[in-house]
Amino acid sequence: MSWLNPTLGMARLQPKTSPTDLPEFIDPKHLAFDIDGVVADTMKVFVDLARERYGLRHLTKEHLTCYDLRRCVAAPPHVIDELICLTLDDEHTAKIPAMEGAADVLERLAQKGPLRFVTARVWPESIERWLHGLLPQIDPGSIIVIATGDPERKHAILHSMQVRHFVEDRLETCHLLARNGIQPILFDQPWNREPTPFPRVSTWYELAEILQLGRTPASTSAAIMHRSSEG
Ligand SMILES: [Mg+2]
Repeated sequence: MSWLNPTLGMARLQPKTSPTDLPEFIDPKHLAFDIDGVVADTMKVFVDLARERYGLRHLTKEHLTCYDLRRCVAAPPHVIDELICLTLDDEHTAKIPAMEGAADVLERLAQKGPLRFVTARVWPESIERWLHGLLPQIDPGSIIVIATGDPERKHAILHSMQVRHFVEDRLETCHLLARNGIQPILFDQPWNREPTPFPRVSTWYELAEILQLGRTPASTSAAIMHRSSEG
């Protein structure tokens, strides 16, 4: 099941996408971000709740090796469902830690234009408040959050926003975006470590390098070539 929308089935997409390369320059006005698993370390809260409330004391984030948590967490399905609902409720969303470096890089990007986020959450309000708390220096009017309620609706929304590059942690969504003409940049997480044709970044500092934030174009081109060749 999808942990962003518990009512949504896990549609397994066939990886038909061809390898894709990043252009030498990514214009921030054509860039947008997923939130959970990219900006927000959401599964840290899932793991903490699993350990504290359900006694799954062995569990770490590294055990979450698939997006469908029922397949990789040794707990009954109703427990997984309850944990997902708790993790995403308003109270716990407010407590989600940010991925290291995310605020710094987003603040630098905000100097170039509005920040756009597209999430598969059903409701945007709590994660929008979370972003405003993470980025207090940025005018809330320059932080745009769209909640699609369904990862398979992201590409249509992104096209309407003229987004060409999207940072995402769900591999199935990356394949879907690529098939619809949007370049995914995969944000590395334990649940997406299969071989992929997409550029992969492990940290926000690596992403900053690709986006040429504070680096010379020459070093950035080398970084892009390295990333693309890794597959
Ligand atoms: Mg995500």
